[in-house]
Amino acid sequence: MQRTNLSDLGEFGLIDRIKGKTENVQPSTIMGIGDDAAVIDSGSHYTLLASDMLVEGIHFDLSYTPLKHLGYKAVAVNVSDIAAMNGFPKQITVSLGLSNRFSVEAVDEIYEGIHAACKNYQVDLVGGDTTSSKSGLIISVTALGEVAKEAVVYRKGAQPNDVLCATGDLGAAYFGLQILEREKQVFMENPNMSPELKDHEYLVGRQLRPEGRTDIVHELRDRNVVPTSMIDISDGLASEVLHLSAHSGMGFSVFVDNLPIENQTLLAAEEFKVNPITAVVNGGEDYELLMTISQKDYEEVKGIPEITPIGFVTKEKNNILVTKSGEHVPITAQGWKHLED
Ligand code: ADP
Ligand code: MG
Repeated sequence: MQRTNLSDLGEFGLIDRIKGKTENVQPSTIMGIGDDAAVIDSGSHYTLLASDMLVEGIHFDLSYTPLKHLGYKAVAVNVSDIAAMNGFPKQITVSLGLSNRFSVEAVDEIYEGIHAACKNYQVDLVGGDTTSSKSGLIISVTALGEVAKEAVVYRKGAQPNDVLCATGDLGAAYFGLQILEREKQVFMENPNMSPELKDHEYLVGRQLRPEGRTDIVHELRDRNVVPTSMIDISDGLASEVLHLSAHSGMGFSVFVDNLPIENQTLLAAEEFKVNPITAVVNGGEDYELLMTISQKDYEEVKGIPEITPIGFVTKEKNNILVTKSGEHVPITAQGWKHLED
């Protein structure tokens, strides 16, 4: 019997393999495995369904993650996947794996964050599951959302000459994590030192308490604009551009000079001696939206201050970063090493 290591396949390879062996039989399944959320025909509209699991030691470190923020984030990352389909979240379920290390008060704190997110996104918590765990905390959220049938947006659909746009700013969450990890090291070496997070509140906040961009979905709807393709930026810009490219069968040119990067991110990049572009392209957890807008609609989108044009779609399936000096750097899954040397 053949034995293949999971690492040989990678996360995306594994999902593709599962997808390849999956057959849908329900006519109401409009989109199954492979996009940010599943799309289900509910008659008058489409229902969206997304699920994300956060695992202690993999996705979060409780030595610097307040439980309230963790609860909030577990909801926000699912809201982000619903927003990536141009939809609005409506209900969530929350499933917890808890070891006996956790107290009732700790669970209360997680739910304080979950309830705060529910209030902010106008989502109802309608169920879940609770189990014990031997290996720390696991929190899995499933979100149900809705979108008008004519407004659903997939990872596929980008057309040549569409404008590639990103919301908010990118790269901040990566440095937030670097700062938290650094302060953890300092604290472990000298427990009398108190962490220096004050100067870095924005970056740390972006890491610990991201938001799903439902506000952008509202803005687009108010302007009657439906992007031609969309994905949320959870794994770094390179990974998401490659997803849009693979699904749409198009190429993308991204202008490094146009990338929306906050001043605080640039300062942290200097401090950590990391190219800020590397953080944007290969970092992660920004939970912004990456979308393509037709030339015709772009005039309307220009009025939304939180949306920045960062490139365009090409018929040739070539994905490149165009640097300030005009150099073309291929966008690969591994990303961006090239420019650093
Ligand atoms: P995202 O980063 O947007 O949450 P993922 O990369 O986690 O997306 O998932 C991509 C697609 O694969 C989604 O449609 C998701 O539902 C599906 N998927 C992920 N893991 C599994 C699994 N174990 N079984 C079936 N489908 C999965
Ligand atoms: Mg996603």
